Amino acid sequence: MDRSEPAATCISVNRKPLPRRPAPFQDELLSSWITRLADANYCSVPELCRYLGLAQERPPETLTDLIGVDTDRFCATLRLPPEELDSMLIQRRAEFPIECISWSNFQHCSVCAHKVPRISLRHWRFAWSMHCEACGSELLPVRSKTAAHVHLPTRLRIRAKEGAKRLMLAYRHGNCHAGRRMDLTLQVAGVLAPEIRHGSLFSQNRIDRFKIVAAIDLGMTRPLLATALVLKNDPASETRLRAAFPHKRKLLDRLARLAESLPQHRSREGASLKNHSWMNCAGTAPTPEPEYLEAARRAIDQLGKNAERSDLLNCAAEFLENAR
Ligand SMILES: [Zn+2]
Repeated sequence: MDRSEPAATCISVNRKPLPRRPAPFQDELLSSWITRLADANYCSVPELCRYLGLAQERPPETLTDLIGVDTDRFCATLRLPPEELDSMLIQRRAEFPIECISWSNFQHCSVCAHKVPRISLRHWRFAWSMHCEACGSELLPVRSKTAAHVHLPTRLRIRAKEGAKRLMLAYRHGNCHAGRRMDLTLQVAGVLAPEIRHGSLFSQNRIDRFKIVAAIDLGMTRPLLATALVLKNDPASETRLRAAFPHKRKLLDRLARLAESLPQHRSREGASLKNHSWMNCAGTAPTPEPEYLEAARRAIDQLGKNAERSDLLNCAAEFLENAR
C-alpha cells in the first residue's frame, strides 16, 4: 500500500452533492442549516458531518471548527458560494471583556421556529438581541414555556433597550474601553443585586436578563448616582462593595459622601430598605397593575413565600394568563 496517499483522500475526492438541499435562510447559522440538511436527506447530523469531511460530529459554528477542512470542497458539496460561508459562522472578539455571544441557543423566535422547525438564526445568539430581525417578534428563552407572559415593566424595557444598543455598538466597534466599563458595571451590579451576574446576559429568566442589560445603560450614564442611591438605602451594600473592590477605596469614599448627601428615599408602599436596589433605578420600581399583584399573591399562596423567585414568577404568569 502506498502510504503517501491516504485511503481517506482517495475516497472523498468525488463527494457527491446532497440530493436534497433546502436553501439557507438569511442570517441562518451554518449549524442550523446542516441540521436541516440532515433532516431533509434522512440522515443523522453526525453522519452528515462525516460525509462533509468534518473532524467532529457536531456541525461547525466558528472558523476554528473548520480548521483542517477543505472549505472549497466542503462548499462545493453543499453548493454554497464560499463567500457566503463567513456570514453563517459566529465570529467572536476574543479581546472584548464581556462574552456577548452565547455558545448555545438560549433564545429563539417562536414565529420563525414554528414556520421552519429547528432553524436558528445567528443574531439570536447575541446578548443584545431582543427582537427577531426576520419577523420583528420578541425573542423568548428556549427553555421557559411561560416566559412570554412574564410582565416586564415599561421603564425596564426602555432602559434594557438602551443598554442593549450600547453593548452592540461597543462590541461591533471593538471598543474595549467601553467594554471594560461595562464589565465593571456588571461586577458592581452582581455585588449590589446578587441575583444578577455576567451569565444573566443569557439567562432563561427574562427579568434577570433585562435587568443586567439595563444595568449596562445605568453604568454608562449614571453609575455614581445609581450606586449612591443603593448605599443610601442599604448601608450593608457599602460593606459588600468595599470587600469586593478593596483597591477602589477612594472611589467608594466618594460614593459614601455622595450617598450621605442624598435625601432618604422611601417608596409609597413603605417597603423595607432591603427592597431598594440598583435595579429599581433601572426601572423596576413597584407600580404594578392590580391584576399583577393579585397573580403574585396567588403564586405566593400556592408555592409559599420562600419558593424560588423564578418559580413564583412562572406561577404568577400562569395565573395571569388564565385570568385573561
Ligand atoms: Zn422571527
